[in-house]
Amino acid sequence: MLPHLDPELFRAEAHRVADWIADYLRDLPRFPVQPDVRPGTVRRRIPDSAPMQGTSFDRIMADFQQIVFPGLTHWGHPGFYGYFPANTSPPSILAEMLVAGIGAQCMSWSTSPAATELEQAMMEWLRQMLGLPGQFTGVIQDTASTATLVALITARDASAARLGGSVDRLVVYASEEANVSVPKGARLAGFAHVRSIETDANAALSVPALERAMAADRTAGLIPSAVVATVGTTGSVAIDPVDPIGAICRREHAWLHVDAAFAGVAAILPEMRWLMNGAERADSIVVNPHKWLLVNFDCSAYFVKDPGALQRSFGTSAEILKGATDGEVVNFRDWGIQLGRRFRALKLWFVIRNYGVEGLQALLREHIRLGRLFAGWVDADDSFERFGDANLATVCFRKVRSTRSEPRDEELNSLNRELLSRLNATGRVFLTGTMLKGRYLIRLALGHLSTTEAHLREAWELIARG
Ligand SMILES: *Cc1c(COP(=O)(O)O)cnc(C)c1O
Repeated sequence: MLPHLDPELFRAEAHRVADWIADYLRDLPRFPVQPDVRPGTVRRRIPDSAPMQGTSFDRIMADFQQIVFPGLTHWGHPGFYGYFPANTSPPSILAEMLVAGIGAQCMSWSTSPAATELEQAMMEWLRQMLGLPGQFTGVIQDTASTATLVALITARDASAARLGGSVDRLVVYASEEANVSVPKGARLAGFAHVRSIETDANAALSVPALERAMAADRTAGLIPSAVVATVGTTGSVAIDPVDPIGAICRREHAWLHVDAAFAGVAAILPEMRWLMNGAERADSIVVNPHKWLLVNFDCSAYFVKDPGALQRSFGTSAEILKGATDGEVVNFRDWGIQLGRRFRALKLWFVIRNYGVEGLQALLREHIRLGRLFAGWVDADDSFERFGDANLATVCFRKVRSTRSEPRDEELNSLNRELLSRLNATGRVFLTGTMLKGRYLIRLALGHLSTTEAHLREAWELIARG
């Protein structure tokens, strides 16, 4: 047992864990990206009930190595190209260690003044880095899903206050390519009407289709309450036309939420700032540093124009929470769903300072370069076709058999599903698939610190060999 008040024993074990992490980061490329385990394998090795007596740290670490480790997917592996990255980096890991050591709980300014003030400062740094106008103020949420739910709840309350009525007639709009968290958030926020708007040839929201849907709803006596525009869809990194969507929202008095969870981070590059065109019209924006900015999960940057709207929907007042300085400070518990809050700003501070803005820009530029390089390899091979542009480190493609008769989409869909499962079974790479307008596509998403051109070439060779 590790007596919890013995600092020297703790020190020794903490050094051991630090060594373990350093070895892990060094050896990561040697492990299979995904474990070869059947459902239940790990569960069977965990006792059915908790031990009555304490277990030595030695024994716990040994079991971690033997039971847990073989069941892990290595998200930081250089061959991990699945979903979008969930990143980490040495400064982020170190900050997270400190946060765990402190055991901070940052619900109010007074429960840890430094946490609130560092969070305010980091959100201001990020706002400037992303080129967002000064009217935006930020707060850190756990995930983009939560941020979108928060946005939809504030939209609902704003519409209901304006109309003095119930939510029954309010409508939310987002493209059919919006992240699953959007319809889920709308449902959770109590909206009875959620419209899935068709997309154009680039998989971006069709503005005429949005206009048509709103007009039909107006005719039916319903009221547009919110539109979620996606900058970088999860399927194919499509960019919705935020500027015209914003003009429609203004006309309709609807809340505009911009979901830029993955791609938004790229706006720290001056040459990619166009991504945020129109975002100045937004009421709220979410960008995930935990996806592509080297901050470990979880950390979502949520920007709003009117923090008062957050306080009206999420404000709290209980005697136990009252502080002498409440009039002078921000209490982030009133800016979101949770009462208790983690100290997430520290890892942003460590990461941004350690790499510097230029270091982060260089990393993103390298991923974007690699994405374009990979797209070039796909384009040069007749047995493959590619979808969309490849400007955001994510490439969608599929294998097309070169036969005389055009194979049908269903045949190609199963061909590509099989190709994907063969690739992932190698343990050298991990990619995910997506369905776009009836076509199954394989998707390669870059974003890890460890992926080099040599790794990417190995991935392409595996894919091309098929
Ligand atoms: C990943 C993603 C989300 C969900 O992000 P979480 O932080 O995991 O909730 C939402 N929207 C888009 C566009 C995404 O790519």
